[in-house]
Amino acid sequence: MAFVLTNARVLTAQGFSSHLSVVIEDGRIVAVVPTRDARIAGLLTHDLDGLYLVPGFIDCQVNGGGGVLFNNAPSVETLQRIATAHLGFGTTSFLPTLISDDPSVMREAIAATRSAIAQGVAGVRGIHLEGPYLASARKGAHDATSFRVPDSAEVELATSLGNGLTLITLAPEVAPCETIRELIARGAIISGGHSEASYEEVRNALNAGMRGFTHLFNAMPALQSREPGILGAALADADSWCGIIVDGHHVHPASLRIAIAAKPRGKVFLVTDAMPPVGAATPDFQLYGEMIAVREGVCRNAVGALAGSALDMASALRNCVQMLSVPLDEAARMASTYPASFLGIDDSYGCIAAAYYADLVALDDQLTVQRVWLNGTPTDDED
Ligand SMILES: [Zn+2]
Repeated sequence: MAFVLTNARVLTAQGFSSHLSVVIEDGRIVAVVPTRDARIAGLLTHDLDGLYLVPGFIDCQVNGGGGVLFNNAPSVETLQRIATAHLGFGTTSFLPTLISDDPSVMREAIAATRSAIAQGVAGVRGIHLEGPYLASARKGAHDATSFRVPDSAEVELATSLGNGLTLITLAPEVAPCETIRELIARGAIISGGHSEASYEEVRNALNAGMRGFTHLFNAMPALQSREPGILGAALADADSWCGIIVDGHHVHPASLRIAIAAKPRGKVFLVTDAMPPVGAATPDFQLYGEMIAVREGVCRNAVGALAGSALDMASALRNCVQMLSVPLDEAARMASTYPASFLGIDDSYGCIAAAYYADLVALDDQLTVQRVWLNGTPTDDED
């Protein structure tokens, strides 16, 4: 049955509007109409008391949440816990992210993702394989002993999901252009990261179809006068997308402001790179059998490398406004509309407009999540 969300500040392509109501039926937005429109008279109405209403957040990089890490137990149950933890912070679409691991763990993770999608686990849209085709020199917290050059069996494994999106982060100096073309031909989206490829190597990968860059600035060398490298190639390229971690620890806010200024509008989006602490009572967790201590919101391994984040999407959005001075409407698009275009799902997700899925987040003035709707269903039980 159709219902209407009214009295909210609704995000549209033109910015926030206080004079619009959102009509939802069968999980989809069927219309966004002026609040006085005769078509909504008589429909069940929910008054949102002036809250902001933005599209549900889309997170391309979620390693864990709710106390569990995808790598440690790649199962539907794990995905369910991660999904529930992040849903509370407004994430209505995400790619569970497996960091570099053995083929057997990759196989399990892909199978778990396939089952989770088939069973409709909240928000699971596919898988992000972050590695293992990465550069040892830029391993970050990954286990470099599992790094390898993808052969044809590996290409087949990495693209075997079948019923959702597959995003693969690779280092362009490790995976040759012909492999990148093959992965794309088999449906994968390719993002460059954990790399110290030269500018030319990255350009070749972009020309082969690489679509974006994974956690820009992190696990890549600095931009140099005579060697722009992967960072320079990312900033100078108008067509590709860049994911950024805005937690105040991974990248200096000034560097992020430079990236946003350098790229065309719509080409920088927010990711969390979240680890188990998000939505969990206990902060510490195990990664590759090693205890990761989380102190003041920062996850580091024994040698001091950042091991993902304790960030949730609502905090990323808030940081984007408060640390980077991005206007709220644009920050909200960086959390929804822009990752949807990066993933090629922007015809169904990431906008408040007719025909889009009714995945929505209501935020108060402090940008705290008040309500979340997934497929038109509120995720709390008040209704
Ligand atoms: Zn990484």
